[in-house]
Amino acid sequence: MATFKAIRIDKDDAGYRAAPTQFAESDLMEGDVTVRISHSTINYKDGLAVTGKSPVVRRFPMIPGIDFAGVVESSSNPDFKPGDAVVLNGWGVGETHLGGLAQKARVKGDWLVPLPAGLSPEQAMAIGTAGYTAMLSVMALEKFGVKPADGPAIVTGAAGGVGSVAVSLLAKAGWRVIASTGRVSEAGFLKELGAAEIIDRAELSAPGRPLGKERWAAGVDSVGSHTLANVLAQTKYSGAIAACGLAQGMDLPASVAPFILRCVSLLGIDSVMAPKAKRLEAWSRLARDLDRDKLAAITSVIPFDRAIQAAGLILEGKIRGRVVVEIG
Ligand code: NDP
Repeated sequence: MATFKAIRIDKDDAGYRAAPTQFAESDLMEGDVTVRISHSTINYKDGLAVTGKSPVVRRFPMIPGIDFAGVVESSSNPDFKPGDAVVLNGWGVGETHLGGLAQKARVKGDWLVPLPAGLSPEQAMAIGTAGYTAMLSVMALEKFGVKPADGPAIVTGAAGGVGSVAVSLLAKAGWRVIASTGRVSEAGFLKELGAAEIIDRAELSAPGRPLGKERWAAGVDSVGSHTLANVLAQTKYSGAIAACGLAQGMDLPASVAPFILRCVSLLGIDSVMAPKAKRLEAWSRLARDLDRDKLAAITSVIPFDRAIQAAGLILEGKIRGRVVVEIG
């Protein structure tokens, strides 16, 4: 029986557990493209899946890993042929469909995008879903029409995956970036990425007033809860905040004051179901705009057998930037 290396999550009477295993190829789910995976990553959602801290996995057994890069092994999809380099993120992979922390995946070709020219598979996974979500957030701010001349941009969870890529992208686009972090020891790292000012996340994480001093015109928030409420309360007139995460919490204990008194806009960002045209645009923008030295600076590469440990660490806020998993 042909098998491949994978992390397998089970949930049964013995409890919820994730462990490395040899997975039978015959147990792969339906799809018209089979990919030999070279790299995956650890995103926050992978941390939730591997530890079971939130019910993101909705089918068992599951292979976690919401994104991967690899080479097409076989395909009956007209858009892909064996040997094509591809990237996947989202579409429920690693949640409802067997995911990327494995040597193989079988998926719908419609979910794949070609590896963007100029990016290696390792770089694509250094970006991963987190970096791609940062790009979607920046694109949403641009589409809304807010500009660097309007004032600074705040990034919350700045030393995390989404945050560190958002800092780099916004700085490159000419924004004066204010990075909010709980790890002030990472100030040097965030300044290297292009942050002009570092603030302690404690300034934003406690319950605040409905409106505060107007401090920024735009923002990328990967934290949610009181942090997002305070970010909105301190956004300048006609500004916009892209909300993409919930590292502090899924709640939003805010008032409508910023919306009705300051015309502030809250832009929702979802990476999982983003349509193909938006995906292709985001990946090509990342290949064009993301400074490769900065990408290398935010990336650590780990072997497959450290993936489970890294999934635990990301939930503790102990991962700086992005983690690439070499599948091997
Ligand atoms: P990371 O863990 O890498 O980054 C999250 C960061 O948030 C941490 O590094 C930390 O930054 C900060 N943080 C953590 N806990 C708290 C807390 N209790 N209060 C305030 N800040 C906190 O995760 P990712 O960057 O991969 O993901 C970030 C968020 O974005 C997650 O909630 C994830 O689910 C979401 N996400 C959403 C997507 C979408 O489609 N909308 C796609 C991808 C991610 P620091 O140390 O700098 O304070």
